[in-house]
Amino acid sequence: MKKQLTIIALLALGNLALAESCCKATAKAPTTKVAVAPITKVERTYAMLKPEAVQKGLTGDIIKLIEQNGFNIIRMEKRSLTKKEAETFYAEHKGRPFYSDLVAYITSGPVITLMLEKENAITDWRALLGATDPAQANMGTVRKMFAESKSKNAAHGSDSTESAKREISFIFG
Ligand code: UDP
Ligand code: MG
Repeated sequence: MKKQLTIIALLALGNLALAESCCKATAKAPTTKVAVAPITKVERTYAMLKPEAVQKGLTGDIIKLIEQNGFNIIRMEKRSLTKKEAETFYAEHKGRPFYSDLVAYITSGPVITLMLEKENAITDWRALLGATDPAQANMGTVRKMFAESKSKNAAHGSDSTESAKREISFIFG
């Protein structure tokens, strides 16, 4: 059983040579130690502090939390989105009941645009951000601590590798 598991582990690691030599060995346990590293990769994601957070002076608190959680800020800018930009940015929600209010809200004042970098940045920023509705968000998340409502929910975060790529290039060029 132990030998079978060793062979499976070696094959899973793509080490055919070691697996073969392991198979040929008789009762001897292999002496090779297999270190399995966690799967991590350095990624970039898009974060945006929304108008109500900026207006309430929460920028510093949220950015501090971002830095304390190991994110490296690659780009940061305070700017406004035009209606056309907002419509394109949130195009995936076109046709949903909250779409026009969302576009009106996100263009209602300046936002802080951020390009963040870290291992597993996309998932980790979504986790730190919390659920869309602050009432559902976990303790310690940005939305739990700073959001006003489901629509005015303090900050944005890319939800996938594809979204991060698209949003970063849309905002930062
Ligand atoms: N939104 C809203 N009402 C809803 C769902 C979403 O006003 O019922 C707004 C909210 O500001 C949210 C944004 O639309 O952050 C985008 O929605 P999404 O479902 O992508 O949530 P998110 O990815 O921001 O958590
Ligand atoms: Mg989303």
